[in-house]
Amino acid sequence: MRNLIALSVCCLALGAASAADPPAAKAAPKPIENITPANPSRAANLNGSGLSKLPPAGRPTAATRMSEREREEQAEAELSAKIAERLAAMRANQAARAAAAAKARKDAAAKAAAVAALPPPRARGTHWSYEGELGPAHWSKINDDWAKCGTGNRQSPIDIRDGMKVDLEQVAFDYKPSSFNVQDNGHTVQVTMGGGNFITVGNRMYELVQFHFHRPSEERINGKGYEMVMHLVHKDGEGRLAVLALLMERGKPQPVVQTVWNNLPLEKGDVMAPSIVLDPNELLPQKRDYYTYMGSLTTPPCSENVLWLVMKEPIQASPAQMALFSRLYPLNARPIQPASGRMIKESM
Ligand SMILES: [Zn+2]
Repeated sequence: MRNLIALSVCCLALGAASAADPPAAKAAPKPIENITPANPSRAANLNGSGLSKLPPAGRPTAATRMSEREREEQAEAELSAKIAERLAAMRANQAARAAAAAKARKDAAAKAAAVAALPPPRARGTHWSYEGELGPAHWSKINDDWAKCGTGNRQSPIDIRDGMKVDLEQVAFDYKPSSFNVQDNGHTVQVTMGGGNFITVGNRMYELVQFHFHRPSEERINGKGYEMVMHLVHKDGEGRLAVLALLMERGKPQPVVQTVWNNLPLEKGDVMAPSIVLDPNELLPQKRDYYTYMGSLTTPPCSENVLWLVMKEPIQASPAQMALFSRLYPLNARPIQPASGRMIKESM
């Protein structure tokens, strides 16, 4: 009986141990021998404690073992179910991530293809005019190289006023009769000069390259505009520009203007290269007082850092000469640009 009790105690201990820590259960048999024969008082003590009240050995112990196993199996099944659930969730996540990555790759490829199919992002237009969609308000958007037409703060023409009256050095002219050619370039009538005509101003020598006409005058003087203006474009050895503006009013016929009109080509774009010469000295007014300020080209690309020299005394052309130009170009003047606090100097 004592042995049986000891065995059941042992089994209980074994069951508990195996439930808590299965590998340790293999070490359990040793205490059985120790407890039973060598320490009867302890066995008796155990016998006198709650263990003596245990149900008769046999069935209850088996039932307990069964329920322990069932619990184990149930826990194991629950754990397996949880693991399976977690695995399924992980696999679903993985699949979703893979699908998202594939979609992102596909979208990126579609985007790249769309970008490749687009025209080049830089604006490269070359056509401009004085009115409508290609007019001055849109020049900067037609071609990226013409950005200054919109963003520049040293643009021309301006309304010349509040000049600082100073003892301006005179512009030194070194013009001579020269060969020339005439072209209607679609924006104006332009006369390109043979070399050898110079002006000197501010210790710099500029060579006359070409002159052309605008109607009405682009620049104004204290708000007053003129019927036409002639721009004589000069360039120095470093490529800097100096433009001399000759305001034009109705009066006597102008001989140089007549020579130009006489040699107009019949077709736009064609160049007429007559075998005669033209003397630009004959264009200049008697008085050589002038206004000067830093500005820009008044046509695309509207490049800045252009020295402007606007003669105060207008030159004259006959009404017939004016009328002829107006048949070709009734309006080819850029609107007035903000002076933006620029210094304007004028001869006293
Ligand atoms: Zn011009």
